[in-house]
Amino acid sequence: MSILSSNGAYISTLLAESGCADHCFGTAEAHPSGPWLEVKQVHSARVITAEQWRPGIEADGLATNCIDTRLAVKTADCAPLLLLDPFRRAIAAVHAGWRGAVQGIAAEAVRLMGERFGSRPEDLLAALGPAIGPCCYEVGPEVAVQFRNWFPERNDLHRRTRIDLRLALSRQLRAAGVRETHIDRTDACTFCGGAQFHSWRRDGAAAGRMFSVIALRRGG
Ligand SMILES: [Zn+2]
Repeated sequence: MSILSSNGAYISTLLAESGCADHCFGTAEAHPSGPWLEVKQVHSARVITAEQWRPGIEADGLATNCIDTRLAVKTADCAPLLLLDPFRRAIAAVHAGWRGAVQGIAAEAVRLMGERFGSRPEDLLAALGPAIGPCCYEVGPEVAVQFRNWFPERNDLHRRTRIDLRLALSRQLRAAGVRETHIDRTDACTFCGGAQFHSWRRDGAAAGRMFSVIALRRGG
């Protein structure tokens, strides 16, 4: 499993090989086209189902088992997480920055898919797309210390340090019951990865956003 670059977008081989969903992690060079459902992202740990959706609703993740509903999240340094249950035929799209990660949004998506769609964590496939990497993601101690549950081996979280957001999210998925071999992630860094990515930290308030999209495949 790996995440490949395809026409400027990133594709998880793990999700693609399941054959029952279409997805991509868009970049600054590759904009997937709509329509899709998206939420007003607020750096929370709230994940909603498509049937709970209404215009302007605040959340950071969407889940559905409806074949006609494409889900999208937008990011620029934060991590896009796509989830697929190939057995119960359900999907989720999650936006996870540090706030969402430390509040447990990846685990919440797994929990919600179980509650609403009967998804078993061990069946879920997960993919983490381009995000700011540990090479560039420096945070202050007030943020770093909140990752101590996910990095118990580290003794530097009381000072300014670098954080691997995708590693924290992977560990959170593992703790929620997702198999190690069912977690795909790219190490591509939005901050130092060049113009193919939008980066909020690098480009400031003018930074564009990248869309990550997933949809169940009809008859897949
Ligand atoms: Zn970097």
